[in-house]
Amino acid sequence: MGLDLPRLSVHEDSSGVRFLTDEALTNACGVTIGFTERGGGLSGAPYASLNLGRFAGEGEQAAVKNMRHLMKVAGAEGMMLINPDQVHGTDLFEIRASASVAQNFSSASSDLEAGTEDTLLTPEADAVLVNAPDIFALLGFADCVPLIFVAPTGAFVVAHSGWRGTYGHIAPKALTALARVAAQAEGSAPESVVSQCNVYIGPYIHKECFQVGSDVYQLFADEFGSEVLWGEDHVDLGAAIRKDLLDAGADEARVVDVGLCTVCHADRFYSYRAEGGVCGRHGAFAFRK
Ligand SMILES: [Zn+2]
Repeated sequence: MGLDLPRLSVHEDSSGVRFLTDEALTNACGVTIGFTERGGGLSGAPYASLNLGRFAGEGEQAAVKNMRHLMKVAGAEGMMLINPDQVHGTDLFEIRASASVAQNFSSASSDLEAGTEDTLLTPEADAVLVNAPDIFALLGFADCVPLIFVAPTGAFVVAHSGWRGTYGHIAPKALTALARVAAQAEGSAPESVVSQCNVYIGPYIHKECFQVGSDVYQLFADEFGSEVLWGEDHVDLGAAIRKDLLDAGADEARVVDVGLCTVCHADRFYSYRAEGGVCGRHGAFAFRK
């Protein structure tokens, strides 16, 4: 059975935690996704308040407390938490069996201990592929592009695409890997699954606010063409990602963008640029029950 076309709406609970989610998706395949906002957390200024960045400067403990709070609010209390150390690369970390075995595509595979309530897994990666229930995948952002991919089988990827990851094509890499895993489960061809996956693009620094040096501008001009450039020295990360995804076979109707710039909406999201480099991180998350 196919997924409904992606559609985002704001979920807010009484604690003040807000995230953009797709309710029809949860009903269709059991996967809950979210792009979090700043409110409802435990942190004070300048990290106020739902800071989800373990390395944002506030300390790991504070961020992990906020993560557990978010999990509770989102209905994922007690699940294994996977929150990678993001390195602006394009490596994808994969978890298949529920809290038992993980395999890293790019380096040695690693065995995990059976999941416990407080398990926190922190592989070095900028994308996490999960094909198991009861695992909460969370990545943090402050201007970079958050991406969530969901297959009809309930497998999903959460990815971090800054300019380096975008330039390195992490988006199509994640989509292709997801389609391969989903196709395996269905016994179908990966090429046919790519166009059935939903793709969610979260809040990020939009082209009007993303001024770059001439070196980065030129890299994007050479790699993606003039359609991802804006003015003399701005780059459109969203356009580059969208172009990449369509080239990889994604269905345009299944790619949805929340349409919010982090710099212009620093009241709702964290922005490294708008806040002078001292700020928390909002999150992109997904889990399946
Ligand atoms: Zn802006």
